[in-house]
Amino acid sequence: MCGIVGYVGYQPVVDILIDGLEQLEYRGYDSSGIAVKTSDKIEVFKAEGKLCNLREVLKPNVDLFKDSTMGIGHIRWATHGAPTVLNAHPHTCNCGNIAIVHNGIIENYKELREQLEAKGCVFKSQTDTETIAHLIGQKYAEVKDLTKAVELATKELEGAYALCVMHNDHKNKIVITKRNAPLVVGIGEGEFFIASDVPAIIKHTKKAVYLGDNQVATLTPDSFELLSADGDIIQPKVEILPWEPVALSKMGYKHFMLKEIHEQPDVVRNILFGKLHTPDEPIILDEVKLTKDKLKELNRIQIVACGTSLHAAMVGKYLIEQLCEIPVDVEPSSEYIYRKTVTDSHTLVVGVSQSGETADTITAIKQSKARGSHILIITNRPDSAMARLADSLIPVNAGIEVSVAATKSYTAQLMAFYLLALYMAEIKNSVEQSLLINLKSEMMILPQKIEQILSSTENIQKCARAYANTRDFIYIARGINFPTALEGALKLKEISYINATGYCAGELKHGPIAMLDETMPVLSILMKGCVYEKLLTNSEEAKARNARMIALTNSRDEKLESLFDYILRVPDVQEIFSPVISMVPLQLLAYYISEFLGKDVDQPRNLAKSVTVE
Ligand code: GLU
Repeated sequence: MCGIVGYVGYQPVVDILIDGLEQLEYRGYDSSGIAVKTSDKIEVFKAEGKLCNLREVLKPNVDLFKDSTMGIGHIRWATHGAPTVLNAHPHTCNCGNIAIVHNGIIENYKELREQLEAKGCVFKSQTDTETIAHLIGQKYAEVKDLTKAVELATKELEGAYALCVMHNDHKNKIVITKRNAPLVVGIGEGEFFIASDVPAIIKHTKKAVYLGDNQVATLTPDSFELLSADGDIIQPKVEILPWEPVALSKMGYKHFMLKEIHEQPDVVRNILFGKLHTPDEPIILDEVKLTKDKLKELNRIQIVACGTSLHAAMVGKYLIEQLCEIPVDVEPSSEYIYRKTVTDSHTLVVGVSQSGETADTITAIKQSKARGSHILIITNRPDSAMARLADSLIPVNAGIEVSVAATKSYTAQLMAFYLLALYMAEIKNSVEQSLLINLKSEMMILPQKIEQILSSTENIQKCARAYANTRDFIYIARGINFPTALEGALKLKEISYINATGYCAGELKHGPIAMLDETMPVLSILMKGCVYEKLLTNSEEAKARNARMIALTNSRDEKLESLFDYILRVPDVQEIFSPVISMVPLQLLAYYISEFLGKDVDQPRNLAKSVTVE
């Protein structure tokens, strides 16, 4: 995770760096820091915690750097070493001549550190990153060439990195490189902007170069020298970014998360736009590049994802198996990549990621691609590393999601799976026409149903206040809403730090029921359909153990009143679409609990939005 930025040009550098870091703060907020070249040396400023703390550190030092036009910056999500000032980037070599910022993990840092210590390097931090600073320092002492030194040092690194490096001897030169971590260079007139992600550069330029793995670039205000992984000089491939600068605004909402929850009706409309015209017409999904024949021949689908995207993928499995009769496996990418998997050219591999940067999913996708599988990517970032690996790409068009806890991107991913499942069902003819028409009609009115939920949230707020002080929380569901239970629990964990767990309700009696007593809230996602009665029985079982019972339901069944202490009602919806409708109140419940507890809703502790380390 973490974000890195760099600038070399003619403008005062500090504002550019800080502004860039602000755009990347979703990537981590354990600490931040910058290094700038002043007339006599490299000055480093660091602060623990959020960027506002670094701003305070900088204020009294303005005179030191007011003429600086080159620098690098970092926003950290700690992997090695506590989130302290000492561990904050930039890191320097012993003499302070080299300063670097790093995104990634150096897996062989211990061995390297030992070797460097034996050579007299004195380490100041516990990070893996500091190793790189010393290593480049050693190489520079040998070759006296910054680019060469970076090239030589990175050859000894195992793991992932995106790096920006500067040296005191070079007033106007930054060297950058990367392996399995993102890095983009924005091209200006007599200036270059370096960043982990586009939002940090887009307001300066739309012309950009995405660095490839193991390439090394040397940037001065008027030159961009790019070396291939083999050390040959190559021409940078300039792309025009399909982005407009957006001013991130809460639009009057107290938090980005609340704003993003409220954007969901439009998010659903957006993704359906141009793909679903009328219930009688077939779904148009030109994004899927498999021919109809190939699609019919598919004998297996493997979906890989992490976190919230994994839960969307689990709903996707249910939909595709139900509507298309193709077996689907879903696996966390982090597990998938470390075992022998059997995907081949007859398997469609689907990667799901909001950011399109999730390191584990990228690795899983690369592995499957190498085995000849067709790769379909569902992402909110069509310009991401994962999107560039795709054979087929479904952008979910949810717009920038600032809140670290995903909400609208989840709903958008669900919609992508509905479209995909219905599209494949139409091609495979695996579902009756009348049912398809009926499903498409219902899908078109989902935005209104979400709007109905959002228009009156008092009951959810009341429920949030009633349960906010609990230590644990259990969510139960069955069938297509089991992933909803997992996602509901994940939202609550993420932003309130309450120990929440989602269970398939049938499993409760096989162990977890032992935890139930009068202190434990159990929220039952009780949507009408094939498992309704079974879930009602499971809820009775929990009630018999004195649990504090909450129902989230579209049923008007009177007997629920005596079974549940609290009932959160949602509009009626066919079971197959209930994950879309049932998730919205659960997002709101988590939001209001977190807000009531006074937690940092948009930037919860220990998390980062884009998980670029394995
Ligand atoms: N491994 C480095 C650290 O812990 C960089 C972390 C990151 O990329 O988020 O400082």
